[in-house]
Amino acid sequence: MAAAETDRDAPSALCSEFLNFSAKDTAAKWLLASNLPKEVYQHLACYVPKIYCLGPNLNPQNEDLLAQLLLQSPLEWYLCGEEPSVGLTKLEQNNQPSQLCGHVFKVGEPTYSCRECAADPTCVLCMQCFLGSVHKEHRYRMTTSGGGGFCDCGDTEAWKKGPYCQKHEPNINDSSQKDPLANLSDEMIARTYNVFSIILKYAVDMLTWDKEDELPEGLEPPVRGDTYYCMLFNDEVHTYEQVIYTLQKAVNCTQKEAVSFATTVDRDGRKSVRFGDFQFCEQAKSVIVRNTSRQTKPLRVQVMHSSVVAHQCFALKALTWLGQIIRYSDALRRILCQVGLQRGPEGENSSLVDTLMLCDSKMWKGARNVYHQLFMSSLLMDPKYKKLFAIQFAKNYERLQSDYVKDDHDREFSVTDLSVQMFTVPSLARMLITEENLMTTIIRTFMDHLRHRDLQGRFQFERYTAQQAFKFRRVQSLIGDLKYVLISRPTEWADQLREKYLEGFDAFLELLKCMQGMDPVVRQVGQHIEMEPEWEAAFTLQMKLTHIISMMQEWCASDERVLIEAYKKCLSALTHCHSGFTDGEQPITLSMCGHSVDTIRYCVSQEKVSIHLPVSRLLAGLHALLSKIEVAYRFPEQLPLSELSPPMLIEHPLRCLVLCAQVHAGMWRRNGFSLVNQIYYYHNVKCRVEMFDKDLIMLQAGASMMDPNHFLMIMLSRFELYHIFSSADCRKRYSRENANKDVVQQNNTLIEEMLHLVIMIVGERYTAGVGQVEISDEIRREIIHQLCIRPMAHSELVKALPENENKETGMERVIDNVALFKKPGVTGRGLYKLRPECAKMFNLYFHHYSRADQSKAEEAQRKIKRQNGEDSVLPPPVLPRFCPLFASLVNILQCDVLLGILGAVLQWAIEPSGGHWSESMLQRVLHLIGMGLVEEQQHLIGSAEENDTNFNFTFKISRPGEAPANTPSILALLETLQNAPHLEVHKDMIRWILKTVANIKTTRECTASAPPSDSSGHSQEETVRDKDKAERKRKAEMARLRREKIMAQMSEMQRHFINENKELFQQSLEELDPSTSSTLEHSPSSCDSSLVCVGPRRWRAGGSERRQVVTCILCQEEQEIRTDGKAMVLAAFVQRSTVMSKNRKRPPHNPDKYDPLFMHPDLSFGTHTGSCGHIMHSHCWQRYFEAVQAKEQRRQQRLRVHTSYDVENGEFLCPLCECLSNTVIPLLPLTKTSCSSEQPDLSQWLNITSQQSKALLSAHRKTKAAGAEGVDEMDGVNDCPPPDGFKLDYTPKNPYSSTIKEMLTTFGTATYKVGLKVHPNEQDPRVPIMCWGSCAYTIQSIERLLVDEEKPLFGSLPCRQDDCLSSLTRFGSACWTASSHTTVQNHFLRLIAALVPDPRVENTPCILDIDMFHLLVSLVLSHPAVFCMDSSGLSADTAQLHFLHLVTVAHIVQILLTSVPEEVQMEQESGGAEREEEEKVCMLYNTLRMHLGSGLREVSSGWHLWRCVKTGILPYLRAAALFFHYLNGAPAPPELHTLGLGEWEALCGYLCLPSNLLQLYYSNQELMQSLLHGWCSHPSVLQGLQSSVALIRFPRESNHLIELPSDYSALINQASSFTCPKSGGDKSRAPTLCLVCGAMLCSQSYCCQTELEGEDVGACTAHTFACGAGVGIFLRVRESQVLFLAGKTKGCFYAPPYLDDYGETDQGLRRGNPLHLCQERYRKIQKLWRQHSITEEIGHAQEANQTLVGIDWQHL
Ligand SMILES: [Zn+2]
Ligand SMILES: [Zn+2]
Ligand SMILES: [Zn+2]
Ligand SMILES: [Zn+2]
Ligand SMILES: [Zn+2]
Ligand SMILES: [Zn+2]
Ligand SMILES: [Zn+2]
Repeated sequence: MAAAETDRDAPSALCSEFLNFSAKDTAAKWLLASNLPKEVYQHLACYVPKIYCLGPNLNPQNEDLLAQLLLQSPLEWYLCGEEPSVGLTKLEQNNQPSQLCGHVFKVGEPTYSCRECAADPTCVLCMQCFLGSVHKEHRYRMTTSGGGGFCDCGDTEAWKKGPYCQKHEPNINDSSQKDPLANLSDEMIARTYNVFSIILKYAVDMLTWDKEDELPEGLEPPVRGDTYYCMLFNDEVHTYEQVIYTLQKAVNCTQKEAVSFATTVDRDGRKSVRFGDFQFCEQAKSVIVRNTSRQTKPLRVQVMHSSVVAHQCFALKALTWLGQIIRYSDALRRILCQVGLQRGPEGENSSLVDTLMLCDSKMWKGARNVYHQLFMSSLLMDPKYKKLFAIQFAKNYERLQSDYVKDDHDREFSVTDLSVQMFTVPSLARMLITEENLMTTIIRTFMDHLRHRDLQGRFQFERYTAQQAFKFRRVQSLIGDLKYVLISRPTEWADQLREKYLEGFDAFLELLKCMQGMDPVVRQVGQHIEMEPEWEAAFTLQMKLTHIISMMQEWCASDERVLIEAYKKCLSALTHCHSGFTDGEQPITLSMCGHSVDTIRYCVSQEKVSIHLPVSRLLAGLHALLSKIEVAYRFPEQLPLSELSPPMLIEHPLRCLVLCAQVHAGMWRRNGFSLVNQIYYYHNVKCRVEMFDKDLIMLQAGASMMDPNHFLMIMLSRFELYHIFSSADCRKRYSRENANKDVVQQNNTLIEEMLHLVIMIVGERYTAGVGQVEISDEIRREIIHQLCIRPMAHSELVKALPENENKETGMERVIDNVALFKKPGVTGRGLYKLRPECAKMFNLYFHHYSRADQSKAEEAQRKIKRQNGEDSVLPPPVLPRFCPLFASLVNILQCDVLLGILGAVLQWAIEPSGGHWSESMLQRVLHLIGMGLVEEQQHLIGSAEENDTNFNFTFKISRPGEAPANTPSILALLETLQNAPHLEVHKDMIRWILKTVANIKTTRECTASAPPSDSSGHSQEETVRDKDKAERKRKAEMARLRREKIMAQMSEMQRHFINENKELFQQSLEELDPSTSSTLEHSPSSCDSSLVCVGPRRWRAGGSERRQVVTCILCQEEQEIRTDGKAMVLAAFVQRSTVMSKNRKRPPHNPDKYDPLFMHPDLSFGTHTGSCGHIMHSHCWQRYFEAVQAKEQRRQQRLRVHTSYDVENGEFLCPLCECLSNTVIPLLPLTKTSCSSEQPDLSQWLNITSQQSKALLSAHRKTKAAGAEGVDEMDGVNDCPPPDGFKLDYTPKNPYSSTIKEMLTTFGTATYKVGLKVHPNEQDPRVPIMCWGSCAYTIQSIERLLVDEEKPLFGSLPCRQDDCLSSLTRFGSACWTASSHTTVQNHFLRLIAALVPDPRVENTPCILDIDMFHLLVSLVLSHPAVFCMDSSGLSADTAQLHFLHLVTVAHIVQILLTSVPEEVQMEQESGGAEREEEEKVCMLYNTLRMHLGSGLREVSSGWHLWRCVKTGILPYLRAAALFFHYLNGAPAPPELHTLGLGEWEALCGYLCLPSNLLQLYYSNQELMQSLLHGWCSHPSVLQGLQSSVALIRFPRESNHLIELPSDYSALINQASSFTCPKSGGDKSRAPTLCLVCGAMLCSQSYCCQTELEGEDVGACTAHTFACGAGVGIFLRVRESQVLFLAGKTKGCFYAPPYLDDYGETDQGLRRGNPLHLCQERYRKIQKLWRQHSITEEIGHAQEANQTLVGIDWQHL
């Protein structure tokens, strides 16, 4: 890189120039200049290339500093006319800022919108403003910003209420009307104007400059070197990986550099990847272009002269500077706006602002961002210029959109994205509609981009390729703009607005006309379609337009004149669409039941039919609106209804519904899935409002204007059922229609669908305008029907309801009327349950039910009725009345054709034969009859005030049929059916109908004449019969309930079968093993009556109590646990743990060299063993594991997918409960011991032990020396004779069977391998140490857990943990047999030396650096290796007790050394009871001070010291009690089975310790004093006490997960200000919080990947290894999701502990309801962590959801 060298001296040259430079003088010179622009340009031409872009590696800080001094400063001097800091401060002081907040959002920052007060959802507040506003008490929505956009606080148009927060509340003397320029002097205005116009023009020129090697006039550099940049530009086509790969090839850089280049290109839009002479750069360019042009268009690369790049850099800087300067004063801002919008020499649309906008798509991302920001802080903040800018924006609209559609950058990087800032302001939108005809412009532009039409001019979408989808998405953004414009409806209409709106409406109709009838389908017969036709594009368009169509209608509804005009326009558009709606089809005449009608011949199953009918549907919507207005009630003749042709109106919607029916009937199977999908969306909640619902309204509208008989005949004909019902003997369908079964089946379904449609046409009245209802009635009814299916969560309900353009369902207003809310527990979510009184509104044929919904709802409702002891009949509900325009629809129920149809179906039901009939058909017929009766009842009630009583359904159904004479009446048929045995299920409905008919008859008679006397008698008789029936029913009901309850219990049992099983197996173990039994009935049988777990006096199990029999879960055989028997094993999971760590900063150990013998008291990492408690034979397990291995190998070859467990690492799932395991623990019996008579006291015993030690030590050295060929170093130890009965050459017999031996090795090696993260090596001397450590660590962690859960020490552990601890401890006591005895003896010698200082043992840590419980456990468990050589009659129990005493004293000393200073005034006078302890502890402390002098501070309070000892040592005593309990099997005293007082005494008693622990010291004072001296004289003690590193103090508090804020948005805010630690101040895309230590990480991103064990891993995975020994718990802040990670391959997502008011989590933050911390759920997560169950939880999650297995967790 030669070029870099030549530039080295440039800065120094600049330095001298810089020293001579004076900004003040330059400004003064400019003040006098005649041609200021030229002067300034000269200045820039001279300096810019000297400051910017001097080499390959830019130095932005240096550049910015120089630019400030040499370029900006003179401008500021000129502008202010004085020292800039003074001048600008003055400006700021004089400024009266506007009330707009205008805070521009960063990516990921929380934004708030009030669902009650915001004009639309795009109106948002920043967190600061929100917290100071009234809206925080309202229903609000919280989202995270995608970047861009600003806070709308202070914008009165954005908020219906509370537009200002406290901070932006306007002053009383409102200054907003005043011209901000009034405060400025004319000279100042002129100077500002000059500077702004020159600089803005300069910036615009440079940013829009497209020459690579030249500069604009006046900017050519004085000297020009051959220095170029190879500039790489961003595109959205190439992937990160492609770019990285190409760069590595092209510019020969490392992967790391390439990643950094790619990241910058993605962020800033461009990045120079090479600097040098032209040739050098050109070469790189050609490689890049060549490498990326294969499949797509190549990456954009330019070779640019360094001076061009320099000026562009400064141009960006200059824009930023302008943005900063105008912040000082609204007046400056206004001047900048003026400069920007001033028309240029080229006339219209030539201002600088126009130029920028029109070049937008040509600029790179970084440049666009900077100038968009400037627009936002200037033009959009100034009320006057916002309007002018909006006009320019509208004028350029078409061009901007076209550019955007061609461009490939995301919309957020396009200037078109600013539309939301203007179009959503109601006053601006209105102005733009009337003055710039914006509505029409948008729609026309949109249409221009959808060019593909068929012959009829309808849209025709080709194959919907990815690229087309991409383009189509861009076009759709125009629909978004249209939505913004329409989002607030006018309250007042001016004539001009009417005119322009209707013009826009016309344009919109043109658009809809292109959609009417698009994507027609033809039924495929014979063969399947070959290719699924394209349908998605059309549906996407429909879906996007749904809200627009609704909004168009709402606008119309707000003005009667507009409504009527629009109606006329829409009608004529429809007429135009179907001008020849007969399409040449032949006219025919239909006749039935004495009626006839003319129509055409048309079969949906044979001709073209389309689902897209937006024009018809818009008309239907307008029709319903028209029906609502007063004119419709009073003078319907004034409405433009005369031109309507009802048959034309219904034709296409009817065809569409028939199509659905035929698809249901299976007639369109060969048309493939595209049609099924279309039908699905047609009914789906996202589309149905402007599709299915409107078709239904159109049918209602058409039918209401027709003779019902005619309507029904046309309908039958379109359903292709006319031939069945029109024939004279239709009641004998079965004898006539003998066609094949499929056709009969098809026709049955069609009849069902047709009847359902009739039910809907007559019964769906909950649309305002159709029925006399309000909008809230409509929503209420929707909710009721959803809740009739089952209780639902808030979000489920929201999903089931249509949302309006503001994403509101209107649910909150009515929900409490119809439902009761039930709060969630620790899992699950809150549920809404239907209020019982609302069930009467239930309509089985609710039009929005799918078939599945319908049957679920039916079942649920019947069940509820039965449970309440009611008749389970579900009659049709009482309906609201129709509006006048629709009133005649009720006549359908009593018209001859319908009655004919009903009669026919009933007749078929009576004589069922050969499937010519279905139950659903009958059910629908009965429902229709029921509807007729309910309608009649309503008419009777209302008849007093209305004179409309000619609805006499009962009369019609009592009448015998006419056509073929003497057919029975419907009523007669029903009476016959009542007794038909095959219709059991419909009996109650038939009974209900007959009863209602009787009631109506009675009412009619009553009202007709005086109340007849016999009616009461009749009814009395009836009530007696009813009562009788009711009683029988009640009894039957009771029996049924009992049955149901039993059934429920059984299924519950089945569900918990596995769990139950687990318990069973555990019980079998527990019953037989006294040591794990928690009951105390059969307590001690030997030695002493008091319960002691350690020492010669300890409790001993009798022979029968020792016997332990278990069952293998694999072969189900029973097996006794014996030393010489078959090995039984427990599935276990060993993992590294930092859960109890008090020092997460400790660097990881080198696994090969680390010596784990002494655990540091900070417990910085340990090895935890857990188990699910399931027992197997070792050979059964081995066979199982081999099978798993083999299966896994086959699977990997075949599928190449991972499993939730890693077989190669020894992992498997427990065969019974599928719990993740990685090894097995062998089960061992209790060791046999006996009480021998005389045992030595502590000092005697210590004497013997030290003799033994010495003998061993010298023996070991001898062998070693012999091995090392006589390097004789035996100083003084050369001959230590062993004490009596101690045989150095004795090798004891290994008591264990071969399988047990094998399992001892297996578990030991596994613990070693996992705990140290090394390769398995059973010979390694550290194997036994790791086993003892795991035993100690696991007991300690369980002791903590019991404290945290506030549970007693004994009796509260689940069986599985009990079993695990017991086998782990017994394994611990046996594992020495699997290792070399010398090794274990050596360990023992080193351990004991820590307590009894021995100069011959090296590297012994001081007592401050030892965790005493670990020491105790290791001593006890390693001692057998020494003890086994002794035959002198010493007891192992004695040794255990002496170890306990020694370690306890050491721990007391440790606690005293690290005790915290007493807090003043905390001392309480204790009674005499503890006096002695207090005095003794003081004495001991003073002894310590004697040894350590100034290392210990003075303490006078014995009370305080004793309290320190007591609380500090408690966890140790508790852990020791657990340890000896499991080791020796002694039952614990009852006091330890409960919480509360007496624990101390009970513990001391159980552990055979004096309750005044200091007696341990004073009863052996002589010996202890020498030990004490030894401990204190270890040099590390004094060092430790004096060092600045915090000492570990006792008791160690339990770790807990970090505190989380109660309000989730606080977290979002915290995360939004978090920047990636690696890529200089960039926002992190996936900020993730470690819940263990509180670190915020930049997850799931290239920038923060690091290498771990040779693999690239994401920040989270890397962090887990440092913070959690491989296990991590995180909160993904943007997603509101908890993430569990274990190792590199395992992970799962977990529900976050944040809930909204409806008791639901919001994973992904999609709903935006405010979220608050649920402590219970957070504690649950914490408990999982403390229990070491995270890995297990992941395993279960992955087993349940296989897709989790495929995720690359390591990259998170
Ligand atoms: Zn704000
Ligand atoms: Zn504010
Ligand atoms: Zn509000
Ligand atoms: Zn077995
Ligand atoms: Zn299990
Ligand atoms: Zn952490
Ligand atoms: Zn990062």
